[in-house]
Amino acid sequence: MCPSCRQPITQCQCAALRRQQERQQGDGVARVSRETKGRGGKAVTVVKGLALADDELQALGKRLKAACGSGGTVKDGVIEVQGDHVEKVMEVLKKEGFRVKRVGG
Ligand SMILES: [Zn+2]
Repeated sequence: MCPSCRQPITQCQCAALRRQQERQQGDGVARVSRETKGRGGKAVTVVKGLALADDELQALGKRLKAACGSGGTVKDGVIEVQGDHVEKVMEVLKKEGFRVKRVGG
């Protein structure tokens, strides 16, 4: 049983709800991290917490990819740029007026 909503765990929607709320509200601070995942453990630079509409997020993703000279994806409110570009991504976001925070390793 989930302690928050008191529903059986199989019916608990808390995690999904929380993600949805975080995405909608955010706290105005974008979180930039370097993650390795998928085949070969290649690094990707991940930006989360941007309170932007999907089309704005797509456009920003394009600018970040261009700035890093790299490919990437924009999906579910998260921008991913292939490669380790944390410094560059933070610099671009700051220049565009976003508040950014580095998270993770
Ligand atoms: Zn729950």
